[in-house]
Amino acid sequence: MNSNTNLYQAIPSVDKILQSELLQEIIQRVGRQGVKKEIGIQLESLRKLVVEDPDRLEDLISGENLLGFLCKEVEYVVSSKFSSTLVPVFNLTGTVIHTNLGRAKLPQEAIDAMQLVSAHATNLEFDLETGMRGDRDTHLEESLCEITGAEAATVVNNNAAAVLLVLNTLATGKEVIISRGELVEIGGAFRIPDVMESANCTLKEIGTTNRTHLKDYESAINTATALLMKVHTSNYEIRGFTNSVTEAELSDLAKSRDLPFISDLGSGTLVDLKQFNLPNEPTVKQVLEAGADLVTFSGDKLLGGPQAGIIVGSKELIQAVKSNPLKRALRVDKVTLAALVAVINIYKDPQRISSRLPLLADLTRPESEIKALADKLLPSLTELLKNKAEIRLNECKSQIGSGALPLDLIGSTAIVLTPIAEKGDSDASLVRLAAAFRRLPKPVIGRIHDGSLLFDVRCLRVPTEFINQLSQLDF
Ligand SMILES: *Cc1c(COP(=O)(O)O)cnc(C)c1O
Repeated sequence: MNSNTNLYQAIPSVDKILQSELLQEIIQRVGRQGVKKEIGIQLESLRKLVVEDPDRLEDLISGENLLGFLCKEVEYVVSSKFSSTLVPVFNLTGTVIHTNLGRAKLPQEAIDAMQLVSAHATNLEFDLETGMRGDRDTHLEESLCEITGAEAATVVNNNAAAVLLVLNTLATGKEVIISRGELVEIGGAFRIPDVMESANCTLKEIGTTNRTHLKDYESAINTATALLMKVHTSNYEIRGFTNSVTEAELSDLAKSRDLPFISDLGSGTLVDLKQFNLPNEPTVKQVLEAGADLVTFSGDKLLGGPQAGIIVGSKELIQAVKSNPLKRALRVDKVTLAALVAVINIYKDPQRISSRLPLLADLTRPESEIKALADKLLPSLTELLKNKAEIRLNECKSQIGSGALPLDLIGSTAIVLTPIAEKGDSDASLVRLAAAFRRLPKPVIGRIHDGSLLFDVRCLRVPTEFINQLSQLDF
């Protein structure tokens, strides 16, 4: 059998392959069309072999089972095409609120709530009392007002959207006065000057990088001024000879000139973090009490909820914000809203927040517990990487992350993996080691520091899940 015709004839037909027992499961799962398309692609490359590499094709044909071989190939490719690229990972970076790793892990209550509204029609914007159109903010507004002391509240897609919406509503075509020291860039794309531009308002920066005084604000106010703004310098801190103006002072000035004063808190915590021995952050309530007319903050930073941007403050200004057509483009969906309601409800029971909210549980996890966990993982890793890497434990510092309290670090324990490399190859082995952990079924993301791969185990909650997949490590 070596004429081309014979070879072509030996290639099974699409229909024959489609009927194979071996493919029925994947057809059930993803549908006939996707499988059929991939069979076409596989057969095409087999037919190419007739001309380009007939010996290889003959090997395949005379091998034990061409049909079986094809089915396996098809199943493998189709499976991977239909699997999501968005997967859970282990965050062992030591940064608890890690934007690139999706920020906060949600509490079970929020997950249940999301599942429930996902599967059903809901009264998202429907007033069950009157049978008329409702407002999606009503599901959350009362709770947010109760916790923050605000008159009114609304929710959008994220805090960047909240800031954009507020500026676009209150300051289009006008000037926004802000201290030079607060013109921050947060995580690449969010830069205050750029947001101002997108919101169609003019940035009026005052003061110097390290010092801004009340008189700088005073003398900057003119007929074009729309509002005074303060931005939390989330991800950096200016130390030394510094001065900034407090919220209370700014609020007094704004009121005396009949201007709104808005504060972008960024992370925005609802509770006093000192009670958990975490570094101090002003709460949303405190900033409102100091006189801010509107406060914006994230749902998925220190709050520990889903991605969202929350705006709280005066009834009149919130109403203006809600009437902006942009609000429609930036609004949250029912799934996010359901999760946020569940998370906010947890805040109504202050005693149990740190045990019920995974984010706060991770942030307040006792150092002794983290150390014990690292001790427990050490033997498996040592055995697994015998002769390939040195493994030891080290005290380390976790970061809260996402711009929250950037300089405040909390004590933790890291497993330190240092590859035993050929001379001059240490960088390459380290990169390979990190990559091998990222290729595990549930990728493990650590942090590279000083020639080693560090796994800060603060956020690791199911050690067996971590250990059980280690046998698949390919390093
Ligand atoms: C993080 C942050 C933002 C952006 O919030 P997102 O929820 O990421 O959109 C805006 N302002 C400040 C001060 C921040 O820290």
